[in-house]
Amino acid sequence: MNTDHYTTWLEIDLGAVRNNIRQTLEISGRPVMAVVKGNAYGHGVEAVSRAALEGGATWLGVARIEEALALRDAGFTARILVLGYTQPGMVRAAAAQDITLAVADPGTGEQYAAAAAGLGAPLRVHAKIDTGMSRLGVRGEEDSVAFLQLLHGLSGLDVEGLFTHYACADQPERDVTAQQLSRFSAVVAALEASGWRPPLLHSANSAAGIYFPQARFDLVRLGISLYGLDPSAEAPAPQSFQKVLSWKTRLVSIKTLPPGQGVSYGHRYHTQGEERIGVLAVGYADGMRRVLGVNACLVRGRRVPMVGTICMDQCMVALDSVPDAQIGDEVVLIGRQGDERITAEDLGRLWGTINYEVTCGLTARVPRVYIG
Ligand SMILES: *Cc1c(COP(=O)(O)O)cnc(C)c1O
Repeated sequence: MNTDHYTTWLEIDLGAVRNNIRQTLEISGRPVMAVVKGNAYGHGVEAVSRAALEGGATWLGVARIEEALALRDAGFTARILVLGYTQPGMVRAAAAQDITLAVADPGTGEQYAAAAAGLGAPLRVHAKIDTGMSRLGVRGEEDSVAFLQLLHGLSGLDVEGLFTHYACADQPERDVTAQQLSRFSAVVAALEASGWRPPLLHSANSAAGIYFPQARFDLVRLGISLYGLDPSAEAPAPQSFQKVLSWKTRLVSIKTLPPGQGVSYGHRYHTQGEERIGVLAVGYADGMRRVLGVNACLVRGRRVPMVGTICMDQCMVALDSVPDAQIGDEVVLIGRQGDERITAEDLGRLWGTINYEVTCGLTARVPRVYIG
């Protein structure tokens, strides 16, 4: 890998992706769906999907039909589930590409069945029930059972799966997940008593798949920890998981400024004494956040603060503690340098958000360089 020519880039360790899938297969003992929505949480969907399948994942999970169709266009033949809502007008395209759709309410199920009638084969769907997330899916045991039976009776549909999603799986000390799990299990039991249930049950995201053995059922939907990231501080990915992403940029200018000099838009920073100020080739159009006074980076193995307003394509950094820094130096925004490390979790804390939003916010113009 030669990154000499890049000014700002992501290094994506595909060996870590394969490792994280293998770890999940080992811990859960269940098949794994690699959740690669949102451009694989910002990591690059095609390369990550390929590595996840090499690591042993058997499903790909996305949020939108467009993401699924793009995977098929790129040549992926693995099973794909669209976890979110799909317009009935896309049923033909989904069926033609062997894409499985989630269905989360009876009316939509009937529309899908009507659209699939006459296609030659039924549309494969996974029914979504709401056990407490209050997002997509039918709520309540009776209505859920009736929903599943309705779908089962529609000749245009093959109801292969039944699933739900947890609201608080990343807070293992709360009892919400156990409650949701018992509601899900009650629907499964009622269906079994009626003589039919979908063959494939799934409920676990990363946190539930790692921390709630009873939530694993037939498939674990691995998102955040596929990337080696922690579901939360209380539910960290196990030590054996490896971080996939590093975010790097370069020093592109170094100047010594006089005391009292305003720096960057709005002059929201002024030098105290004479200060060595560097410029980095990274800004909010790359995914850096325009938050004053919290950002830092690693230069020559030392942690140094960014100063002044973050611009769209650049930002400034205080270099007095790194006298040997030079134009062209590699600078780490997420990842390791020497003994220092900055994580997506660290940036999430500084920015008042979570690691998920940090990596999903890394924009399309930043080249992804694949290693491992
Ligand atoms: C995004 C998503 C996942 C993955 O969740 P993680 O917490 O990232 O593991 C699983 N299931 C559904 C329905 C999702 O939308």
